[in-house]
Amino acid sequence: MPITHFTEKFFKLKAEFIKDHIINESKQEYILDVQLPVKAHKCPCCNEKTTQIKNYRLRKVELGIQYNYTIIARYNHRRYICKSCGKSFSESNPFVKRYQQLSTLFKHYLIESLGETLSYTAIAKRFNVSITTVIRYLEKMKLAKPSKLPVVLSIDKFKGNAAGQKYQVILTDRQSGTIIDILPKRDTKAIEEYLRSFNRKKRRAVRFVENKLTEILNAFYDIWMAYNLKLRFGWLKRTYGKDKIDNYISHWLERVRASKLDEFSHLLKTFNTWRMPVVNAFLLPFSNGFTEGCNNKIKVLKRISYGLRNFERFRVRILILGAKMAPVAKKQLMPKSVHS
Ligand SMILES: [Zn+2]
Repeated sequence: MPITHFTEKFFKLKAEFIKDHIINESKQEYILDVQLPVKAHKCPCCNEKTTQIKNYRLRKVELGIQYNYTIIARYNHRRYICKSCGKSFSESNPFVKRYQQLSTLFKHYLIESLGETLSYTAIAKRFNVSITTVIRYLEKMKLAKPSKLPVVLSIDKFKGNAAGQKYQVILTDRQSGTIIDILPKRDTKAIEEYLRSFNRKKRRAVRFVENKLTEILNAFYDIWMAYNLKLRFGWLKRTYGKDKIDNYISHWLERVRASKLDEFSHLLKTFNTWRMPVVNAFLLPFSNGFTEGCNNKIKVLKRISYGLRNFERFRVRILILGAKMAPVAKKQLMPKSVHS
């Protein structure tokens, strides 16, 4: 198989770019002489097109390893000069960036292997580079913190023994089973700071926090407080008597105001308008649960009778049905003759 067959596939080096190739058996190197065809280039300064060559510079670029041979390109790197403004610049090429010794794809493979459970030594050996090169590439990878927090956030520690800290902290998304981030140390203040670096809205997106640490985190205080208010409102059901209910609501609204939670501000306005109906709702043993039950019965009735086209008959059937549901109403509905 000719070497050009895979140089194009692996290193983006087309056969027409390769002028010659030699093998250095003692060094286990496969050396390719590379020169790109002359092509009109746009001047980065004035956008004027040019094919005027300024000079060449021979560069040695490591492309990668194939069959234990290091593939090296002796790249005759061309510089163009702009006829219009006099600016000179390097030609564009698909395989190596400026001032770099490793090809773009070679780096890509190297970085990819950093995602495998391999030691630095093993990676260095695989790519025939030094361990410091491997570490340098790893350090170049800057991973930003996630843009948002998950709905179900899990916080746990693990023994990482990194940077003088015994434990590191791992944040995971319990729903998707993915790692959100790794924090350098198990330190309440640091974790708080990290969580608070997300704005309030993003923190509010978190609905459940599974905190496996013994430290109590206040970053989710808002959620805890909102939940608490909801819970306390529910306790209203255990309060009887108009005055007591009204009193309880007053206290509860005081708590809502004190919480300063934006989400509740609308609710405070609603209470101003609907205060009495709300008190009455808790006072009277009525709810719309009964109506809902009736609607369900009517739905069943319609289905079993293949639709009722005559309204009056329909009405009566519903009322009889309703009477069966409410024993008191039944008496009123029954024709007197039946009673006597
Ligand atoms: Zn120019």
